[in-house]
Amino acid sequence: SGLPPEVHARVADHPCYGPGADHRFARIHLPVAPACNIQCHYCNRKYDCAGESRPGVTSRRLTPEEAVARARAVAAELPKLSVVGIAGPGDPLAPGSVAHTFATLEGVKRALPGVRLCVSTNGLALADHADRLADLGVEHVTVTVNALDPEVGARLYAWVAWRGRRYTGPGAARLLSERQLEGLARLATRGVLCKVNSVLVPGVNDAHLPAVSRAVQGLGCFAHNVMPLLSAPEHGTHFGLTGQRGPTEAELAAVRRACGGRQMTHCRQCRADAVGMLGDDQNARFAHAGEAVRV
Ligand code: SF4
Ligand code: SF4
Repeated sequence: SGLPPEVHARVADHPCYGPGADHRFARIHLPVAPACNIQCHYCNRKYDCAGESRPGVTSRRLTPEEAVARARAVAAELPKLSVVGIAGPGDPLAPGSVAHTFATLEGVKRALPGVRLCVSTNGLALADHADRLADLGVEHVTVTVNALDPEVGARLYAWVAWRGRRYTGPGAARLLSERQLEGLARLATRGVLCKVNSVLVPGVNDAHLPAVSRAVQGLGCFAHNVMPLLSAPEHGTHFGLTGQRGPTEAELAAVRRACGGRQMTHCRQCRADAVGMLGDDQNARFAHAGEAVRV
């Protein structure tokens, strides 16, 4: 797989990373994070966090108790469940989400000690919680980094809310990227495997992503995942970026080539409540898994 052996051993059963593991192992995302602390211009709050999301039915938010019950019920039916992740619908580490996120992670760890825990975040609050994530045994963290250059970032983010203040423009983008890099560096010292997602927005960050990719892989991230902006009409209106198109297949491939290093190519941009094998989502089958039977 080209991965260093110590990384390979830890991703072999992760459906998103292990070579061939997408057909052999399953994952579940638990939608417990209601709040977000930034506003991406490409966000469509009608759906899940666009960092990793496809449109569809908005995932129903679960309480930590409901989420743990769901994970437990799915694990009983899907013995190949190897990864339990939290990826939305807002940001798992935003102030309004973080208590739900940790309660869920702790509950899943107690209920299913054999699964690997995974968290996906915009990274603004990551440095504050990196040690707690590592102490809890979270093995995989994904951070969405769309820009390091504040001028590019200013075209992607409407605002960033940080310690009681709201920032806009290049200052907001600079604050976000500094916090993201600090969080990634801290997780690297704790041995947590980090992946970076970047949403490719043609004409905005395409020429800049190779610099992002070099920087984050230089910080120890084991994979970079350039994802196309989803902009078809059925995805609804974005918060900003009116009329923005997504990249063509050829543009996406060219940016991934220019980024180099270890590029992911099979991410499915799953929903915040995805369940099952990649490409074989079983949301319908497990729609009510773990819910108390009401009479
Ligand atoms: Fe939306 Fe961005 Fe927040 Fe995700 S991180 S929920 S895309 S504003
Ligand atoms: Fe894996 Fe991508 Fe789906 Fe996350 S969104 S579970 S990385 S395929």
